[in-house]
Amino acid sequence: MTFKELGIQDALIKALKENGIEEPTAIQEKSIPFLITKGTDFIGQAQTGTGKTAAFGLPLLQAVNPKNSQPQALVLSPTRELGQQIQKQLFRFTKYYHKVFCEAVYGGASIDQQINNLKRPTHIVVATPGRLLDLVDRNAIDLSGVKTVVMDEADEMLSMGFKEDLSKILRLTTNKKATWLFSATFPAGINEIVNKHMDKDAFRIE
Ligand code: AMP
Repeated sequence: MTFKELGIQDALIKALKENGIEEPTAIQEKSIPFLITKGTDFIGQAQTGTGKTAAFGLPLLQAVNPKNSQPQALVLSPTRELGQQIQKQLFRFTKYYHKVFCEAVYGGASIDQQINNLKRPTHIVVATPGRLLDLVDRNAIDLSGVKTVVMDEADEMLSMGFKEDLSKILRLTTNKKATWLFSATFPAGINEIVNKHMDKDAFRIE
């Protein structure tokens, strides 16, 4: 399979090539066609390093309406490092594509700076759960336009104690159309989130 056959646009494929990404990985082949066309609730069992950032990132980039400057997608990450990596990859993918602005927010860095950054047009927000809720408390982020919430490394977020924060964020994103969850393992806490916040017939891949 090629990225083109999976439904990825040429401008994105060109940037992928420049980044040494020529052939889809297994998870990309299984998830991209579904996430692009249906885009409803999705559960992917995936380890790190399998190409899952592109698996959810490319469909998100193609779903964003660049003319609408409020956040349309939210990607939740357990750590600052992973959040920054996701933001960097998405930025690289859009080199020849229309500008999709992606901002990473995380704890352990100046919140004032992040509040200022969020005043610019921002289509995709990558966030650690605690910092996101701090920004919500300060009215620094508008979640009303968020259509897709992605939980990346959900099991890691649970082991870091973010379970309540995740539930809260999933309750606050009242206009979302889809929740995409990626996790390497599925302990009881993940199944609880899935049962409470996701469609019974979510599309699942391994
Ligand atoms: P991830 O699992 O998303 O953290 O990706 C791990 C690494 O694999 C990143 O450096 C990606 O740029 C790279 N990568 C993602 N998809 C592919 C692909 N289809 N072919 C080669 N490398 C890839």
